[in-house]
Amino acid sequence: MNAALRARSLRRAYFRFALALAPAAGVVWLAWNGYALGAALLFCTVLTTMMIGTLVPRCALFGRMIKQLPQAGNEVLLTIDDGPHPQHTPAILDLLDQHGIKALFFLIGERAAQHPQLVRDISARGHEIGNHTQTHPAGTFWMLGPVRLWREIAGCQEALTALCPEHPPRFFRPPAGHHNLFTALFANALGLKMMLWSARGFDGVLTDVPAITQRISRRLEAGAIVLIHEGTPVAVEVAQSVTALLEGSGLKCIPPASLALRDDEVVVERRAAP
Ligand SMILES: [Zn+2]
Repeated sequence: MNAALRARSLRRAYFRFALALAPAAGVVWLAWNGYALGAALLFCTVLTTMMIGTLVPRCALFGRMIKQLPQAGNEVLLTIDDGPHPQHTPAILDLLDQHGIKALFFLIGERAAQHPQLVRDISARGHEIGNHTQTHPAGTFWMLGPVRLWREIAGCQEALTALCPEHPPRFFRPPAGHHNLFTALFANALGLKMMLWSARGFDGVLTDVPAITQRISRRLEAGAIVLIHEGTPVAVEVAQSVTALLEGSGLKCIPPASLALRDDEVVVERRAAP
């Protein structure tokens, strides 16, 4: 990835970090002057705010993100995370064809490199690929520093763009939805929009397919962004159940190609939908 872009982005990240440390001076000053309670309150407030901004997936404290479809009509978007997977991806692609659904696959760079043909198949069959980091460090992503974080996002972008140069990723989804002070900054620098979700069934941790489907069903409404996963013990069953749910919902599952980036906003181009 462009070295000048990397250097510029890292400089901005360190500047942000320095700004974020500014309240520390206030804490030290208060403590130094004997205001222990004030120092403790300021410290706890800043720490709590930072933790909420980092660990609550839908909190946009550190940068804008897409959580629902814009200009919501009667439309929903299906997104599928953590692929490609040698067994699940082909099965899910066939299933989506049967239901006439186009989905947005958030792929992991190193898995994409292991299964390049699956990535090309996803794109060739009319779906879109998105950036889901190079190695998917779900447990530690929230606390990655600028250098490693850049490597995760830019590395995946490079890997997926090399496989699908005609349709490079336009959207980025952080693992587990966690994002820190630098995540949106780097995604934007790489021309990516952060996309979260509004309807998920926790299929990354649960295996009860009816319960997973019911959780998604409760959040399924116009404008919803639905999240399911590949690589789980019930991935194909969940995909079957959720595609049937979508078909019977009366909502229109829009193809990701209908999402256009215009003036820093994401819009749905309804007439562009095939
Ligand atoms: Zn993931």
